[in-house]
Amino acid sequence: MAIKNVMEIIVRDVLLGNKQELKLTCSCNRCLDDIMAHALNHLPPRYIVNPDHQPYVRVMHEADRD
Ligand SMILES: [Zn+2]
Repeated sequence: MAIKNVMEIIVRDVLLGNKQELKLTCSCNRCLDDIMAHALNHLPPRYIVNPDHQPYVRVMHEADRD
């Protein structure tokens, strides 16, 4: 069985992609995990079965941004 919460991937992407802009006091893996866990607790999960669906969810996420 392969069920994945794509929000994990999206949050990690956004976090790693904006590490500089976010001006984190600490950006070690432990602290990044903390931030990810915190963010994911506030986001609705988007579970997918087939990883091929990921681009679709990503597009929805990008569309939500502005
Ligand atoms: Zn740290």
